[in-house]
Amino acid sequence: MFKPKAIYYEKEIENYELGKKLMEQYKDVPKVVIESHNAIEEMRKQDNKEFVNMKRNLIIGVRKTHKFVENHKVSDYLVPYTSSGCTASCMYCYLVCNYNKCAYLRLFVNREQMLDKIIKTAEKSDKELTFEIGSNSDLILENTITNNLVWTIENFKNSNKGKLTFPTKFDMVDDLLPLDHKGKIIARMSMNPEEIINRVEFGTSRLQGRIEAINKLKEAGYEVGILIAPVIFVDNWKELYLGLINELESKLSPKVKKDVFFEIIFMTYSYVHTKINEAAFPNAIQLYNKDIMTGRGKGKYWYKENIRKEGEEFFRENMKKYFPNNEILYIV
Ligand code: SF4
Repeated sequence: MFKPKAIYYEKEIENYELGKKLMEQYKDVPKVVIESHNAIEEMRKQDNKEFVNMKRNLIIGVRKTHKFVENHKVSDYLVPYTSSGCTASCMYCYLVCNYNKCAYLRLFVNREQMLDKIIKTAEKSDKELTFEIGSNSDLILENTITNNLVWTIENFKNSNKGKLTFPTKFDMVDDLLPLDHKGKIIARMSMNPEEIINRVEFGTSRLQGRIEAINKLKEAGYEVGILIAPVIFVDNWKELYLGLINELESKLSPKVKKDVFFEIIFMTYSYVHTKINEAAFPNAIQLYNKDIMTGRGKGKYWYKENIRKEGEEFFRENMKKYFPNNEILYIV
């Protein structure tokens, strides 16, 4: 389990069951009281090269914003849930962009309030809604600290309507396997070639572990999806991603292959990423490539249209060959 260097916490967390539990769990860790998890002055002032060190801290607070954002991919709504940020350090993580240096793991202890809003929204709706609860963090990782995913599944399973979904890059799924989830959970594993995981997705699970985890989740009756994401157009990308598709074809269980769906997402990047990564990971690969990337709004980059088109053709052709019966929900 993650052992933080220090805990920064809002006093109010002690009024919540999970807050009390975490304070007990980490009773030996140095603590700092903060006014708000959104504005920790001491962290804001830190240098970019301290990025990884800052992620060794844990921030615990009460989530005040509960706005659902409409979505039209796997889910109907993106829901702010029990955490934001992460202890890992993927070089392209979009949370870095949204929160700049505050991409460290923040836990929110008012989980009853957050799940209650999801359940009520699902019940009020005429259609069957799916809620994305993992867009701000990685809930499999968070679960190893809080047990929140287990708690969520157990408290959601008897609701009348709706489904929950989350993506992950971690393989610690064993606690989820015995749960009676009643088919209301869609787990999505994010995959990349091992070489990309090694060079870019620091602190996440290996490819082999991710494949085994999705096989186990399917065996336990969960609905599953695979994200090939983010696709990074390094020099030998065709070789790497063909290798990945081959590996998935040979190692995913027949049950997974029967009805798994795919999402394929090309990497986006930003000026903020380049600055943080240059300082925090001076020897790492340079992900910004001016020859194949172009601006996309303020300080943001994505791959040029011809590259994205070539990528889309490559994936459509090879997925049809290796996974002819599986749906690709989208390529973006
Ligand atoms: S695992 Fe997900 S949340 Fe964590 S750093 Fe990587 S992309 Fe960001």
